[in-house]
Amino acid sequence: YLQGIQKHRLNSQVFQNDSFEEEVKAFLIAEDQLHQYDDLTKVNPVTTKTVLKCLEARYQAGVFYTCAGCTLVAINPFQPVCHLYSPEVMKEYHTALQPRELKPHIFIVAEQAYRNVQGQIEPIDQSIIVSGESGAGKTWTSRCLMRYYATVAASSSSQKRCETVERIEKRVLESNPVMEAFGNARTLRNNNSSRFGKYIQLQLDRSQQLVGASIQTYLLEKTRVVYHAPSERNFHIFYQLMKGANEEERLEWTLPLTAGFCWLPNSEQTLEEDCFETTKEAMLHLGIDSLTQKQIFRVLAGLLHLGNVQFVDPVDESQPCELTDDTKDFIEIAASLLKVPEKLLLEQLRIRTITAGKQHQVFKKPCPKTECITRRDCLAKLIYAKLFDWLVMVINGSICTDSSKWINFIGLLDVYGFESFPQNNLEQLCINYTNEKLQQHFVAHYLKAQQEEYEVEGLEWSFVSYQDNQSCLDLIEGSPTSIFSLLNEECRLNRPSDASQFQTRIEKALSSNKCVSWDKFSQIPNFAVSHYAGKVSYQIEGMTEKNKDPVPPELIQLLQRSWDTLLQKLFPVEERGEQEDARAYSKGVTVVSKFKSSLESLMGILLSNTPHYIRCIKPNTNCKPMDFKKEEVLCQLEACGIVETINISAAGFPIRVPYQSFVERYGVMIKPHRSTLNQGSYGNSCSPAKRKRASTPIKKKSNLCMHLHSCLHFSTLLTQQA
Ligand code: ATP
Ligand code: MG
Repeated sequence: YLQGIQKHRLNSQVFQNDSFEEEVKAFLIAEDQLHQYDDLTKVNPVTTKTVLKCLEARYQAGVFYTCAGCTLVAINPFQPVCHLYSPEVMKEYHTALQPRELKPHIFIVAEQAYRNVQGQIEPIDQSIIVSGESGAGKTWTSRCLMRYYATVAASSSSQKRCETVERIEKRVLESNPVMEAFGNARTLRNNNSSRFGKYIQLQLDRSQQLVGASIQTYLLEKTRVVYHAPSERNFHIFYQLMKGANEEERLEWTLPLTAGFCWLPNSEQTLEEDCFETTKEAMLHLGIDSLTQKQIFRVLAGLLHLGNVQFVDPVDESQPCELTDDTKDFIEIAASLLKVPEKLLLEQLRIRTITAGKQHQVFKKPCPKTECITRRDCLAKLIYAKLFDWLVMVINGSICTDSSKWINFIGLLDVYGFESFPQNNLEQLCINYTNEKLQQHFVAHYLKAQQEEYEVEGLEWSFVSYQDNQSCLDLIEGSPTSIFSLLNEECRLNRPSDASQFQTRIEKALSSNKCVSWDKFSQIPNFAVSHYAGKVSYQIEGMTEKNKDPVPPELIQLLQRSWDTLLQKLFPVEERGEQEDARAYSKGVTVVSKFKSSLESLMGILLSNTPHYIRCIKPNTNCKPMDFKKEEVLCQLEACGIVETINISAAGFPIRVPYQSFVERYGVMIKPHRSTLNQGSYGNSCSPAKRKRASTPIKKKSNLCMHLHSCLHFSTLLTQQA
């Protein structure tokens, strides 16, 4: 920390060249001044510029966390700051009388949520929503929060109990390396980018002990198995396997020492590979024994070999595609690793089965090269996605506790951050849609609800305006017409997709929405959405197909015939035909509709409990320590409405005490008059308005809050009474 301050002093030269130099100086140089701005509500005046300067000065001094009223701003240090998360620090926050009086930290939020569960008359579930763009530090933060609960929720237990709890804590923590190995990958924005959304509920029993957890995942980006942008990578687990497999395993799974797999580019950059042992050990703790692990890795090796299978268009179109000479071995190895008949695998990749007519006549039609590639990719994506879901199910089986054993939970939400790449498709649309939903939750819960509450309680309040993202959400998911509904219609009509026509359809139907636009000069059909965090241009080509996500039934039947027990579990024998696919589309069961409904149920959970917000900020796009890029931070601050949040927090009431708790705590001051108090009367000295407020019946639920100043007023009255 002190080193940070020294560094800041050394950097003062840089500041002097800064056009905002005066403002920076006005802020903080000395340590005590740093803490003067622990909460951005103390900055005066609150403007984006002053907030930015304050954050910059703190960041340069090695202070990464700052409160912003109800939210916590966390700037990614991009360097190890382990001392910030040590068990001693955890203890300090956990045992503090008023954690908010300590230095800003994610542990304040964690502790607040923990005490809220504990301290309410009727305990209420809590959620910590960690948001921010890709690479901002959400997953890191969630991991630290999990570690915090695993530590503090066990600290007060008896020795015997501690043993059980420790086991569950360990397992809960061990879910991280496994989920990240299978669900994270290097992208242009983040070397460890989460390619799925995760909501983990930490289950607490009556005595606030962590007794279990359950994980809900959202839309894994399975396309990554077969395709990723240049300089991006496949899921970490493949690289871990390539580097970590021992001699015997290499031989068994035919893994060369130097990578020669098409689906494994950029293997030379060593990133997470050394974690293979960690992943395996974590899997073991989660009840995935080494035999099952071998099955999993064998299947993954099978996928890698499958990716090297290349096709050549045949001379005679009535014949199936040929295989290139150098890839003939790969199909053989892939078949043996997936334990499916090689002949059948070859047939299903190259020949389409069509069932037609009332008699369900079966026709076989050789596929052109492009379709063979699609079928090969589809097979790999299908296996990987099923494997991922199965892993989540096994992990849940290992960490989830019987519902009778826990009464409350603290949920941690870590979803993929806002993304904008040179080329964006359905995956990015879903990711950014998720972030829009979360932003709306924040706006609705905090910016809107807070102000409405003040009005209801009759407090003097001048309304702070804020950016509402409803029209963007209407554009994406609204009814009757939106991008999602148009995409679903394409699937339902099941016509050959034409990207240009689809663009025209969007233009016709949605051009009245101010959040949509088009790059007229682009060669490729596109549409752009003005998200709360910035404008993103989406490429239309391939979007409808991705939304359909068709799976040829023959491929499922092929996997059902595997003699590998793992694949048998992933693909239990149950018929699924093409017609069923068509019926599913007609019912609107597409990727976007499934995703929309899973997000809606998440929103339902979030709305039913008390949210806490951590806003992660990425100080620069190069992931470098001590590099604060004003413009980039500014965009993020503006996007999440930080100034509005601070304004509402600063002008609002930071402490709320439910009437019931207040009465219980301070009622003692007028003990003899308790009965009078319960009748809601203050005596004759009150004005009619005050009497009216005082006679408000004490509600059991804690949503009726008393603001600090009302409390003080109440307290004065109580004292007078006493
Ligand atoms: P995505 O949306 O792509 O999943 P994310 O917001 O989850 O991104 P993280 O993976 O958590 O981003 O963080 C990116 C990287 O930043 C981490 O791999 C780590 O190197 C670094 N980082 C984040 N937070 C911290 C921290 N508190 N201390 C040190 N390094 C950090
Ligand atoms: Mg992440």
